[in-house]
Amino acid sequence: MHANNQHTGIFANIPDYGFMVNPKGIIEDFTQQAENIFAHTSNLRGLKIQSLFPSIKRKSIQRLHDFEFDYHVKKQTLRFRINVKQLDSTKNEQYIVWLKDITTEHRQERVNRILMNISQLELVSEDINQFYTTIQSELNTLFDANNLYIVLFDKYKVSLNLAFISDTHNIQQPYPQGNTLALWIAQTAKAVILSQKQINQLKKIHNLDLFGPKALCWMGVPLKIKHDIIGVIALQNYNSTDAFTPEDLDVLKFISTQIATSIQHKENELALRQAKEKAVESDRLKSAFLANMSHEIRTPMNAILGFAELVSRQNIQPEKREVYTQHIVNNGKILLNLVDDIIDLAKIEAGQLKFRRNTTNISELLAELLETSIAEKKRLKKNDIQITCNPDNRNTTQWLLCDNLRLKQVMLNLLSNALKFTFGGSIEFGYTIPNNATIQFYVKDSGIGILPEQQSIIFERFRQADDTATRQFGGTGLGLAISKKLVELMGGRIWVTSEPHVGSTFYFTQPLIIPDLTNNHPLAETPSQTPQLIHSNKAALVVEDNEANYIFLYELLHQTGIKVIRANNGLEAVGYIQNNPNTHLILMDLQLPELDGFEATKRIKRIAPSIPIIAQTAFALSDEKNKAMSAGCDYYLTKPIAAKKLLNLIETILSDA
Ligand code: ADP
Repeated sequence: MHANNQHTGIFANIPDYGFMVNPKGIIEDFTQQAENIFAHTSNLRGLKIQSLFPSIKRKSIQRLHDFEFDYHVKKQTLRFRINVKQLDSTKNEQYIVWLKDITTEHRQERVNRILMNISQLELVSEDINQFYTTIQSELNTLFDANNLYIVLFDKYKVSLNLAFISDTHNIQQPYPQGNTLALWIAQTAKAVILSQKQINQLKKIHNLDLFGPKALCWMGVPLKIKHDIIGVIALQNYNSTDAFTPEDLDVLKFISTQIATSIQHKENELALRQAKEKAVESDRLKSAFLANMSHEIRTPMNAILGFAELVSRQNIQPEKREVYTQHIVNNGKILLNLVDDIIDLAKIEAGQLKFRRNTTNISELLAELLETSIAEKKRLKKNDIQITCNPDNRNTTQWLLCDNLRLKQVMLNLLSNALKFTFGGSIEFGYTIPNNATIQFYVKDSGIGILPEQQSIIFERFRQADDTATRQFGGTGLGLAISKKLVELMGGRIWVTSEPHVGSTFYFTQPLIIPDLTNNHPLAETPSQTPQLIHSNKAALVVEDNEANYIFLYELLHQTGIKVIRANNGLEAVGYIQNNPNTHLILMDLQLPELDGFEATKRIKRIAPSIPIIAQTAFALSDEKNKAMSAGCDYYLTKPIAAKKLLNLIETILSDA
């Protein structure tokens, strides 16, 4: 107690912060409690009370009524509410000034208000950034921070990404991907205040990457939803070692639950909005796709029907018949490619595509691609385009363990695009080996090029650089989407560099797996000769309702001497086998009237389990295959049936029998 701070009488013992002052505010007496907290500045007696509390400097004593102000003492900020009462004394005008410490309630009120604001903000803020900025300004009213940042986990819960930062310094550094203080918080689920020394210790122990300027005081809490940690909110102060108090930490912990919930709601809302935009966009793309598809189907279909009509005319010259037939075959192939593309995409998306790696001579594969591209160039009558395969690649033998059919499919796709979009100039393709783990293929053209903003979307399905109704080029926008998926599923990536009116280069990588040629690796399949079968003593039942398909199978089997019997539906087939259980082979279509192929197979297998059944279907998805196999079919082929494949299979079956 200061020497001059002598109390007069009982006033000193009143357990509250109180001062007795004259009308000018000069302190005449004070309570013990008031002295304990306010006397450190100077002697209280004789001091003007307004000078003790700067916030009431301009106020006259008489007008102090429920006035609130902050008072900084011992590194704390306290909140007081002040009231004044005039003493009932006639001779001496005196006032009692009462101060009430309302720090706790005041803080609680602010916290409640902030909680309410955040939950309202969640509803009204237009975008997530506005939401974060307002959270930051709300928290600023509570904490003394130079920096506030929020980091959120990625969807795999592996790394934290910076969702928001506000800093008095201009931080250019990207948020580190490795161990950070925030990651340590997220992993340990601790809410902490750390000094610079503690931060340095943690950095050493956990090998942390620190983010931003060095903080003298750092406070971080996990953002939790129930027991799930979705991220971390952190505040830093660069100037004061004790900027944050344990109460601050409690408050931040308390508010963080609301922040976490609101962030999640906001993120969900954003995801929903994006999903909706995507759905609207896919709807538009689907319509564009259907319009394209109908064009893509109609064009070859018209040719097929038109030439079929011409071929069927009598008195047609044999050479013309040959040309017309060739048109029919070519356009049929175009249609089939289209269907194959759609099936490929469906299989990829259903995760049903299987890859078969085999030992492949890449130089041979490139030579084959060159031959095909030159033939295609002739067909398109683009004779002034120079197509070259990188000579280094053609002259050096590069063996690679890869799925050569899929690899070829991707290259063919890129080459056919290059041809489609180039009108003069050159196309070059080949590969480089940028490091000993990667082989990088490329197809370079001097064509129309692709605008920068189109360069990534063309890899999405159904997307074309020009998807307007007046577009100049045919196509369905599936080729690159399929290529991208194939390349990625085989362990590589695909990209394009391009300049409009100059040309494009498509690149894709694959793992460089060099086969061990000293061992017996299955070599890439080489086409075998069509077997010349003679099976005149054998009979096959063809269960097929479609006339054209039946004729095709009949012609094929007939050539080999096999006797062909037809059943138009499943019931007929079962009936026939009941009477002829010695039939050697059954070709079973699966989609049939009356009784389908699955059920017919089951019944036939009960009657004559040893007759081999080859199922055929136009549905190339593997579910169909599994169903057929479990119904009892022994082999499975997808339509269109390749003649050679079917004959090879029949040869194997009948020679085993
Ligand atoms: P499609 O060729 O059937 O339209 P793709 O998926 O193969 O489908 O290609 C998508 C789009 O990418 C094409 O429509 C075209 O706009 C653009 N594109 C692809 N390759 C090239 C190329 N070599 N030069 C210019 N544009 C290209």
